Amino acid sequence: MKERGVLTVISGFSGAGKGTLVKKLISEHDNYSLSISMTTRSPRAGERDGVDYFFIDRDAFERNISEGRMLEYAEYVGNYYGTPREYVEKQLSEGRDVILEIEYLGAFQVKKMLPEALLLFVTPPSADELLRRLRGRNTETEDKIRDRMKRAIEEADIVDKYEYILLNDDLDTCVRQTHEIIQNAKYSVSRNAAFIKEIKKELIETVG
Ligand code: 5GP
Repeated sequence: MKERGVLTVISGFSGAGKGTLVKKLISEHDNYSLSISMTTRSPRAGERDGVDYFFIDRDAFERNISEGRMLEYAEYVGNYYGTPREYVEKQLSEGRDVILEIEYLGAFQVKKMLPEALLLFVTPPSADELLRRLRGRNTETEDKIRDRMKRAIEEADIVDKYEYILLNDDLDTCVRQTHEIIQNAKYSVSRNAAFIKEIKKELIETVG
């Protein structure tokens, strides 16, 4: 049987560059599978259904929730976002390292259900840089940008629930560090409890 993959949750301030980071990580390494979320928000220019998100309406989203098809979900700035369960389970069981790019309420639901999940938080080097990146996207009104900056203040309070910070200043460095952290998680003691138990059993048998 293939060893189960690592489930990594990547959150971060809106505009921190999570999307770019994740895309580059996946393009550089073939062990990763990216979960595509469902959302009720409208597509931004250039976004494609089934690639960036599955864009669905509120009724369909709520049906998925009630039928137990979401691993987690949350409302973010007026829209639902959630992770379809089936894809994640299948990829992990096939030994693929799965990435979820989701906000913190969803991250905590995942951690509660699957404590072995690795929680990473992406931050830009400063608030000014965050604002510059949000404006640079040219996709949101100033009001929406303000909402996202306000939400970032809230998010600053929950970063301590994450396991690692990813400082996204130089993208290549950030991608390399992210990959190392995820791969190192495979050697954590908690993930290898069954192996240690097996060694102990063998030791007892050997000593007699
Ligand atoms: P955006 O509208 O900028 O694409 O995403 C807004 C926020 O929703 C981001 O913080 C993103 O990480 C989060 N998000 C995207 N997909 C999901 C999801 O499936 N579940 C949850 N809980 N958050 C998500």
